[in-house]
Amino acid sequence: VGLIQKHPLRTHKTEQQCFERCFKVFQSERSDLKMRIHSLCTVFLLASLGLEVESFVGGARNRVKISELRGRRTVSTTSSSSSLYESGRIEDPVGTESGVDLANAGEATQRLGAMAGPTVWTEFGRISQEQQDDLANLGQGFPDWLPPKFALESLVEAASDIAHGPHQYTRTAGHPNLVNQLANRYSIHLQREVDAMKQVAVTVGASQALYLSLQTLIQPGDEVILFEPFFDLYNNQVKLAGGKPVYVPLRFVPYSDDNAATAENGALTGGTWVLDEQELRKAISPNTKAIVLNSPHNPTGKLFSRGEMESIASALTDLANPNCVVLSDEVYKYIVHAPPKDEKERNGESALCDGHIHFASLPGMWDRTITISSAGKTFSATGWQVGWCIGPERLVAPIHQLLPYVQFCASTITQDALARSLPKADMPYEGYDSYYHYLKAKYTRKRDLLVTALKDAGFAVPDYSKSPGGGFFIFARIGNEIRKALPAECVNVANDAAPGGVARLDWALCQWMAEEKGVLCIPSSPFFSPERAQAGASDEFVRIAFCKQDETIEEAAEKLRRITASPASESDDGAAAAATVAAETAKATR
Ligand code: PMP
Repeated sequence: VGLIQKHPLRTHKTEQQCFERCFKVFQSERSDLKMRIHSLCTVFLLASLGLEVESFVGGARNRVKISELRGRRTVSTTSSSSSLYESGRIEDPVGTESGVDLANAGEATQRLGAMAGPTVWTEFGRISQEQQDDLANLGQGFPDWLPPKFALESLVEAASDIAHGPHQYTRTAGHPNLVNQLANRYSIHLQREVDAMKQVAVTVGASQALYLSLQTLIQPGDEVILFEPFFDLYNNQVKLAGGKPVYVPLRFVPYSDDNAATAENGALTGGTWVLDEQELRKAISPNTKAIVLNSPHNPTGKLFSRGEMESIASALTDLANPNCVVLSDEVYKYIVHAPPKDEKERNGESALCDGHIHFASLPGMWDRTITISSAGKTFSATGWQVGWCIGPERLVAPIHQLLPYVQFCASTITQDALARSLPKADMPYEGYDSYYHYLKAKYTRKRDLLVTALKDAGFAVPDYSKSPGGGFFIFARIGNEIRKALPAECVNVANDAAPGGVARLDWALCQWMAEEKGVLCIPSSPFFSPERAQAGASDEFVRIAFCKQDETIEEAAEKLRRITASPASESDDGAAAAATVAAETAKATR
């Protein structure tokens, strides 16, 4: 137990808590977790004997072999298995993170470099597996309910339509039934004729649409602008393509001045994330090859306003290399739950997609945009993995060219099922004019459920009558009461999975809430560049998903309320730590 306690990833601080955790694991069927504990014990034991672990080979669940031990070394109290992984001295003892031999790795692996190792997803995935019985999970962004009935029926129809051979390969650039449907819809969205064969490419999810777009555009050393915070996939995809991410911070503007608010009633307020046009213009260089725009935005839920989109378009036209394009990731476009109030801001909205502006529909932008989307969020079917790129032939043809070398085609059945679903989604659904209207109403209700719970628990949240919003995340700001409840010793401790190796406030709070309070949310720091995260820009925020069943949100609400309702014995310490963090982060975020 003492050995496990030294592991920097754990938060079970007291010996009693640690013992209970180990005991629970050993009572369970989780042989992988048992092995993890065995492995950690073994490594600590060897280290405490002064032995250097040269190679710790295992991976297969029940087989751990120490292949070589060498010499004696001085072991400091912070020595741990995970710091040994990072230094490349041992391979992952349980096969959850792979040991990567960078020196001999291929170029793509080398480009990711130090990114190998535990991440927010492996770490919070581990916690959710360990705690699954008593956890309200508002972490990862996928709905925990079935796709609509018409989509399931379409899948069955597609699978049963033997005459049209949906069980074999289809056209590499996209199943004809689907590209025709997509071209029809985008012709309306973008108010221009979209050619189904030349201007649409079907991919495995939006992730591959982004990946292939970057691969076709980027040469080593090219720069790609990311608005920060950003969906964490972008950063590494840019690096995989040999590019260099250049971050343009979105600015958090609180509804009321923090100092005044604190003086008045002690409560921090929510706010709006805004694009600073000057920051964008400063970031553009002759090497800028792409700007990634994501609206509605993951993680903040921000909708880029028409004005902001126009400023991106003018920066592109005025300053960027003529080959620079916008990759417009619009996977949440049917979940605009708070459209802009100002009619001017709604100018140019698609007739089929309430509250959403397609960047490619702005004057002159069709020629400079690859529009990226997928079916996952709209049809609550993230596992279908049907995505697409829409754009001018000069940008889509290179993607068509790469596709057959990545896979012959995306799954024919799911493409066909989606093609069958699209016309059905426009029909009246559950008392609404269309499935899309139903979807929006469903998410608006869930959002409000979560907003109330978060406010009650002391988080500051966006006021959707002031800030337009979309998608299914709330980027909540950690209020003073919550900061006080968090034990001070959890903050700023070493943690290999956290950016910069330190669990700052956002990470510490999420880990503590998941392990001790039974609610899983995602820290915001992985959505920021490591430099800005370490400067404190992400300290105040956590990402909370509301694409979850009402019961899950209600369970989370109850647990969240209990956090601030119960007197925290640690509150004095917590308050002191919180005050320091708040002062630091206030500077970094603005
Ligand atoms: N873009 C954004 C902004 C996302 O949030 C996600 C999924 N979380 C994706 C792209 C990936 O979508 P897909 O599952 O279709 O690959």
